[in-house]
Amino acid sequence: MSRAVTVDQAVTEAAEVLAGAGTVTLLAHLDPDADALGSALALGIALHRRGAVVQVSFARPDAAPESLAPLDVEGLLVPAPLVNPAPEVLVSCDAAEPGRLGSLARLLDTAGRTVMLDHHATNPGFGDVQVLDPQVEATVVLAHRVLVAMGAPIDPDVARCLYAGLVTDTRGFRTAGPAAHRLAAELVEAGADPEPLTRALMDSHPFAWFEGLGGALERAVLEPSGLLYTTIPLADVRRYRPEEIDSVVEVLRTAAEAEVVASVMQVEENRWRVSLRSTGRVDVAAIATALGGGGHAMAAGFTREGTEEEVLAAIRTALAA
Ligand code: AMP
Ligand code: MN
Ligand code: MN
Repeated sequence: MSRAVTVDQAVTEAAEVLAGAGTVTLLAHLDPDADALGSALALGIALHRRGAVVQVSFARPDAAPESLAPLDVEGLLVPAPLVNPAPEVLVSCDAAEPGRLGSLARLLDTAGRTVMLDHHATNPGFGDVQVLDPQVEATVVLAHRVLVAMGAPIDPDVARCLYAGLVTDTRGFRTAGPAAHRLAAELVEAGADPEPLTRALMDSHPFAWFEGLGGALERAVLEPSGLLYTTIPLADVRRYRPEEIDSVVEVLRTAAEAEVVASVMQVEENRWRVSLRSTGRVDVAAIATALGGGGHAMAAGFTREGTEEEVLAAIRTALAA
């Protein structure tokens, strides 16, 4: 979209496109989190209840994380190979760029209309209707605004999906502003029950994970620059659920001495997915962008080929710059 439009105008336009659609495919980003999948499922459930034919999908991994699957109360999730190759309307949720949709990014070219919902400052803008607002704490805030503009009811199932994205992207409302707190109150009133939701999403791991976490913490290194990192070997990445692996960085960031923390996860022999978190001073989105990824000032990520030492050296160089 080349015209300059406000977020409000984009929300209205997205609501019009979705309200008129008979078939809609909603995509979450690779390795979907609660914000990506919660946004896609909240919109998907509402559209399905209005009579649309709805698919929700993501390119990787094959199945939804165990903690997020229960949000799919209507059975809208479909494996990536079964996604309609040319949907009437395609919605991209929480993806900072087309590449974050993985192999499903090809649908951006084959869909009749494309709607993009996102809140990453590093998003360059893509899609016919761009609901992009780096000021909001989570993409679910934008999904909620589109639902309201459509006149769709926020029932308990939709509220749970939205709450899941809001509570996780704000790390339990630590980074939430007044409007996000008000939205949370509205979602709780609508039927989202915080305790069971947050327990499943943020506070629950198999006991066997303690061994994996222990290893990750034992391997942690604090460098004089304020970089604190640990590496997670391929065997552990394969052995534990993404819920466990992704939680390591949140433990690392509690180190008082750290400026930047990095969880360096081996996803193939020579390929590493890196989660970066800042404790305040450093903009990790800038580091991630320099290394081929993106994200937010306080939380960002990238995936990179090379040896462990090469990836660590790249982080040190980008941090020093
Ligand atoms: P994560 O460390 O995977 O929880 O990601 C932290 C933040 O950075 C999230 O908002 C992600 O959407 C974003 N992010 C992670 N990896 C990438 C990437 N390769 N490109 C753009 N954004 C990313
Ligand atoms: Mn996300
Ligand atoms: Mn998000």
